[in-house]
Amino acid sequence: MAGDAGTAWVLRRVRPLGGEPVDVLLADGVVAAWRPAGSTGPDSDGLPPGTAFLDADGLILLPGLVDLHTHLREPGREDAETVESGTRAAALGGYTTVFAMANTNPVADTAGVVEQVWRLGLDAGHCDVRPVGAVTVGLAGQRLAELGAMATSAAGVRVFSDDGHCVSDALLMRRALEYVKAFDGVVAQHAEEPRLTVGAQMNEGVVAARLGLPGWPAVAEEAIIARDALLAGHVGSRLHVCHVSTAGSVEIIRWAKAKGWQVTAEVTPHHLLLTDDLVESYDPVFKVNPPLRTAEDVAALRAGLADGTIDCVATDHAPHALEDKETEWAAARPGMLGLQTALSVVMETMVIAGRLDWAGVAERMALAPARIGGLPSPAADAGSSIAVGAPATVTLLDPSPWRVVEADALASRSRNTPYAGRSLPGTIRATFLRGRPTVLDGKIV
Ligand SMILES: [Zn+2]
Repeated sequence: MAGDAGTAWVLRRVRPLGGEPVDVLLADGVVAAWRPAGSTGPDSDGLPPGTAFLDADGLILLPGLVDLHTHLREPGREDAETVESGTRAAALGGYTTVFAMANTNPVADTAGVVEQVWRLGLDAGHCDVRPVGAVTVGLAGQRLAELGAMATSAAGVRVFSDDGHCVSDALLMRRALEYVKAFDGVVAQHAEEPRLTVGAQMNEGVVAARLGLPGWPAVAEEAIIARDALLAGHVGSRLHVCHVSTAGSVEIIRWAKAKGWQVTAEVTPHHLLLTDDLVESYDPVFKVNPPLRTAEDVAALRAGLADGTIDCVATDHAPHALEDKETEWAAARPGMLGLQTALSVVMETMVIAGRLDWAGVAERMALAPARIGGLPSPAADAGSSIAVGAPATVTLLDPSPWRVVEADALASRSRNTPYAGRSLPGTIRATFLRGRPTVLDGKIV
């Protein structure tokens, strides 16, 4: 039953954060009431006229997921992805907000471009789109972009990143950190010292040596994170570290947090699951920036996410057209799809493995990224993400089935999923954005 924006919904026998089943009423865009499981039917008192019912027996209710790191490719590479197709994939993956990275063409370095992306998101309507603004003009690393104008634009930008490129100039990075304090913004750094990765093709290590491919040392990432943590501490500003990929990076972030500095970090699903020995296949679907690392790094990333050193999971969803990806290794563009598989990978690596419960998943995939990105709090009362009065912006996961990922079945315009043919647990059954279903029965409404 597909309701319109005004329809109230009862989610029958749903399990909030994996807890005991209850009936949850969504009305007027908010979580309106919880009732004893199975007690709410068509004849129940107090239901708005036309209330729709969703049999959610066994489904886990989570706050709508928030992705701090999505490449939607529009404007410029609409053959790889559009705001419409990317946000469709997001909703099907349980996301209700995505932060759209600035490395489009033209680059999102002005109020005009970020407003264009924001409006495209509104028009598509699958989830909220929050544009990320570039730190430097044209991502060129030479001079600061119009950060203030983007912050005060209709798009209300709070996250700034040259992602794809590192802001490697220390003085520019300092200036950006100082500037964003005026509107409680955050600089999200793609940590890669460019002089240390010239020509790099994969993680520097045993596998690279065996394959004879130029290596990408962990220190190229760690050196920038250490420098930027020191800068953030020095100027008292907020630094967010994109796609942390090494054990050493986790150690540095742990140290920076212990200092009391405002440093947050994300890890991608693929860095939680995949390792660099996959490169032995020479399949460019495994080429990504930062590169897949070792099993020791994966273990440290999982431990860092579990103990909160790493604040959140972000997909780094990076669609690429066939000609940019299905080519020889050296010529292929780095990047992987992620929006429709992220929750499943986190379920496999963190929940089934006993490292996080569902409340922990809600924190790492919805609440923490919302705070870092400057979104309004999703909870009416602190401590619970799905409280009465909170926005009815939620997702429903069926945790039981394992499914084999099929690249052709994904909503993205691109096909570069590293999980094709792999079995992953869990599937999104429904997503609601302020009470309006964007996904029902696993399909876009
Ligand atoms: Zn990046």
